[in-house]
Amino acid sequence: MSMINGFTQDDAERLSDNEKRLIERRTRLLGPAYRLFYEHPLHTVRGEGVWLYDEQGRRYLDAYNNVASVGHCHPRVVEAITRQAGQLNTHTRYLQEGVLDYAEQLLGTFPDHLERVMFTCTGSEANDLALRISKQFTGGSGVIITRFAYHGVTGDIAELSPSLGPSMILPPHVRTVRAPDAYRLGEEQVASTFAADVRAAIADLRAHGIRPAAILLDGIFASDGVLADPAGCIAEGIALAQAEGLLYIADEVQSGFARTGLNLWGFQRHNVRPDIVTLGKPMGNGHPIAGLVGRAEVVDHFGRNMRYFNTFGGNPVSCAAGQAVLDVIRDEQLQQRSHSLGEYLVAGFKTLAERYPIIGDVRGAGMFLGVELVTDRNSKTPAAAQTRQVVNAMREQGVLISAAGPLENVLKIRPLLAFEREHADLLLAVAGEALAKIER
Ligand code: PMP
Repeated sequence: MSMINGFTQDDAERLSDNEKRLIERRTRLLGPAYRLFYEHPLHTVRGEGVWLYDEQGRRYLDAYNNVASVGHCHPRVVEAITRQAGQLNTHTRYLQEGVLDYAEQLLGTFPDHLERVMFTCTGSEANDLALRISKQFTGGSGVIITRFAYHGVTGDIAELSPSLGPSMILPPHVRTVRAPDAYRLGEEQVASTFAADVRAAIADLRAHGIRPAAILLDGIFASDGVLADPAGCIAEGIALAQAEGLLYIADEVQSGFARTGLNLWGFQRHNVRPDIVTLGKPMGNGHPIAGLVGRAEVVDHFGRNMRYFNTFGGNPVSCAAGQAVLDVIRDEQLQQRSHSLGEYLVAGFKTLAERYPIIGDVRGAGMFLGVELVTDRNSKTPAAAQTRQVVNAMREQGVLISAAGPLENVLKIRPLLAFEREHADLLLAVAGEALAKIER
């Protein structure tokens, strides 16, 4: 994952002595791979609802977190974790009802052809398992991803994550296709371009003697710049891949659990039929639970000759957290809220675009927005420096967003699903102030 919105040592001058000490300790203890958000990193000590609090008690509106999605420290999730932790926490090698009740409810939210669920602890592991299952089922090894994809950190999955940085050199069994970027490719071209790229990728794998196994796609193309529309634009390319024997793995780690509004799952906007769907991030609202659902034929093929045990995956406490998240999404009608507030935010940013020509494109689905900044609307020249300035100016004003995309010029806005209208208004007002500042 690129770190467009990252702290560098050059920014250290302005920090307090305590902040400098913490950063020095972090670097000494954790090494250089760990990065911090914002030129002025945030020292968070507490979260509640849509707010994060720093060590001085200042609060920040969280318009970025896709983990504590139903609200920081949501009381029902905290209660479920606490109750189960006080009763029993073991693993999936004992008979237990909690994991089955949760599996039933989770599967009930998917189309009928997805009948099995397997649990992991992280999204990376879920994708890793999906890849293993796909290789076993197809007897192939070739994988198709988008050019600036991010799918996780295991050895095999990092190789499918070119957005990790230029030193991530893709291995011979991987082919990339252009992400469906309607702004830059043109709305009419996007579906046919995607399908043509998929066709070419499959042909090229075969020409090199590599049997294709899977096409793996993020449901909202977050690292590719948050690409949502037009709905259905990937359907032709995916149908083509499936007809060629590839499995379609829908990575819902970003786009799942009501994030995209109209549906619980991001792929559902695209009229496609995944063979496997991978899950993570908001699944336990901060508790590490992830997994996959898949077609029975595919999952059973894998498990028939291979046992699977993940010590922590599917443990009772994690399942209690997962169950509470599903309950909260249903009871607080967060999917409907994601849809309506998401539309309100898109409309709000489009209004800002009338005032600020630096906004080249506003897009999104539900509560996942991409606002692409350009120095010139005709040439669409990316405004990367200004994108960073907006993110940091908003952080100074107490609203947290970030940035994404191969050109480093897309404001990535992912409010907690617990947002109310007043929070959306605050986000828009502070974004407007930041844009006014850089356009001056
Ligand atoms: N897939 C996507 C689309 C992601 O955004 C991420 C995490 N950013 C992952 C997979 C990996 O999830 P995790 O960090 O839980 O391993």
